[in-house]
Amino acid sequence: MIQKIYKAMFYLEDLREILRETAPDHRLDEGQKKKFKNILNNVKDTLDEEECQKIRYITDKIELRTREEDFINIDPIQVAGRLTPEARKALIAYGDGYSVCDYCFKPFRLDYIKKPPVQDFFSELSEFVGMDVARVVRGARNGFQIVSNALLEKGDIALVSSLAHYTLCLSIESIGAEWREIPLDENNIITKEKTAEKIEEVKNKSKKLPKLIAVSHFDYMFGNEHDVYGIGKVCEDYEIPFLYNGAYTVGVMPVDGKKIGADFVVGSGHKSMASPAPTGILATTDEFKGKVFAETKSKGDITGRQFGIKETYLLGCTVMGAPLIAMMASFPKVKERVKNWEEEIKKSNFFLSEFLKIEGNKVSSEMPRKHTLTKVDTRDSFDKIAKKHKRRGYFLYEELSKRKITGIFPGSTREFKLNTYGLSWDQIKYLADAFKEIAEKYGIWVENFG
Ligand SMILES: *Cc1c(COP(=O)(O)O)cnc(C)c1O
Repeated sequence: MIQKIYKAMFYLEDLREILRETAPDHRLDEGQKKKFKNILNNVKDTLDEEECQKIRYITDKIELRTREEDFINIDPIQVAGRLTPEARKALIAYGDGYSVCDYCFKPFRLDYIKKPPVQDFFSELSEFVGMDVARVVRGARNGFQIVSNALLEKGDIALVSSLAHYTLCLSIESIGAEWREIPLDENNIITKEKTAEKIEEVKNKSKKLPKLIAVSHFDYMFGNEHDVYGIGKVCEDYEIPFLYNGAYTVGVMPVDGKKIGADFVVGSGHKSMASPAPTGILATTDEFKGKVFAETKSKGDITGRQFGIKETYLLGCTVMGAPLIAMMASFPKVKERVKNWEEEIKKSNFFLSEFLKIEGNKVSSEMPRKHTLTKVDTRDSFDKIAKKHKRRGYFLYEELSKRKITGIFPGSTREFKLNTYGLSWDQIKYLADAFKEIAEKYGIWVENFG
């Protein structure tokens, strides 16, 4: 079916191309008329065919992507970035390069564009995360980069979690500043106490305070919740700016930056906001907006040129065209879906309670789950099978693939991550049964099964 849909959609794009070639009056010559008619017939035939001829490529070497149509996807980073139908339609209509710039007038800045309503979107975004101002940026990593650029200087120290994402560390490094890690407690959690201790340690050793503290609410390794409220308080006491990393929260659960005590809220569009890459958000307070969203002041020494009110650390306009408009198109549904977070957590916990019925299976993340991203440990179950299986660790991936489940790392049977976000209850049950069936097939004992 997906083949048929793609095929028809591509024919429609070919029709669209003829309109572009013959703009503005669309007076088609005989050849074009014939071509138009042929393609139109192809569309109809494709839709009418029982079995359509399969296509594999969009163009040379670029294959169709049908993962979301053909499989249950539990890829840890992909599931909450899947597009809404509105976003997919936006991609088709706004794909041309600088398409958002049609109605960009003075003062020539992305956040002032009224048609399409980018300006309103930006203000809704800041409200959505409980902050004063927001900008769309090129992924969460670009948010870190902008804050690092604005706040840090060479030799400064910034504190990050021991589970920090590499892009945060690289952002700090790129300034010539240093990142130091706040240790985890025995439950793999960053606490306010550990944060305060690390601040004291840095203060004693280097005679200066960290210039920035950045912690993710839920980390990418375990999907554990870290004490961002407590850390926000510690940062306030020491008067150190606090960056709340919401790569795994903004867009899936409610986030209130001010309540947390955050000076910056960073989110990822392609990870958690049903948006294409590269998109993300950076929100801040009135106190910090002048600093991170500073406007250019420089002037050409020969020409005397200046660049109006372009924002220096953002390099002026950030995300243009299709990714931005698709993010906007998804936003109404994203605003609604955060209200269903509790249900997502229920499904996550239900799946794991079933998964744990397989003898030897363990969960490495904190329990009960407060997130849909989870690290599981199958060293005493599937990995034992892998040791004897001719396909080694790939057997599990292959057994899952046969059941049309994808997204775990091929070859891993020791510890791996999965994310159940967005699956229906039926899909959750199907997923749990698939793991149990595989276990049973290889002689692993499964509680109350079969
Ligand atoms: C995925 C992730 C990032 C990077 O997000 P991008 O939007 O791809 O830049 C940063 N931090 C954490 C905790 C993440 O999980």
